[in-house]
Amino acid sequence: MSLKATINYSPNFNIKKRSKKSIKFLIFHYTGMKREKRAIQRLTSIQSEVASHYLIKSNGKIIIFVPDLYIAWHAGASAWKKYNLLNKNSIGIEISNPGHQFGYKKFSSKQINSLVKLSKFLIKKYKINRKNILGHSDIAPLRKKDPGEKFPWEYLAKKNIGYWHNLNKNKLINARNKKCNKILKNKFFTYLYRIGYSKNYKNQNEKLFIKAFQRRFRPHLINGIIDQECLLISKNLA
Ligand SMILES: [Zn+2]
Repeated sequence: MSLKATINYSPNFNIKKRSKKSIKFLIFHYTGMKREKRAIQRLTSIQSEVASHYLIKSNGKIIIFVPDLYIAWHAGASAWKKYNLLNKNSIGIEISNPGHQFGYKKFSSKQINSLVKLSKFLIKKYKINRKNILGHSDIAPLRKKDPGEKFPWEYLAKKNIGYWHNLNKNKLINARNKKCNKILKNKFFTYLYRIGYSKNYKNQNEKLFIKAFQRRFRPHLINGIIDQECLLISKNLA
């Protein structure tokens, strides 16, 4: 399988090459800038000190900024399971979108088609576990919202990219907005840690932490409140 992409190298990577087997995660981002052109400039300019490996443009075209075997600077301070600073173990994929700050919009079907192709290519090449396909907000929940609640995780999971719960929709609707007591709330966090969310964020900003989970797994209602629906979903995934 080959990949159709154009190359536009970025200087924002570590000089030292990594091994193929050190690549364990795919991390999805949105660019979060008004204009795509500016996003490309930023991801390739030495001053910004940020780069992903790939960018998927609005028209679905793929750009390579950094070859897979070099560590690109896309995740920043981050944690998941026993991993810290995930740049060294991940491939970063940016998807063009203005993001929450500049008019967050639906990802185009051309973008998603390209993302499916690219992800399948990388999953096969590096034998990436579907549970290691994450959003930036999963690994940096207090700092980041990307790729956000409009990102089609459920659809991608059907294509074996990432994962989703297998709960009945009516069961979830019935549980929505139903309150949880202190014991159930604690259970919710236990499930989150089992899923992989880092304990580093415990007791810092609970609301943001809950919202990060919701953006990823309960995208139709992001309110930072643990209800019975959140509890069911987290339990199902843990
Ligand atoms: Zn990001």
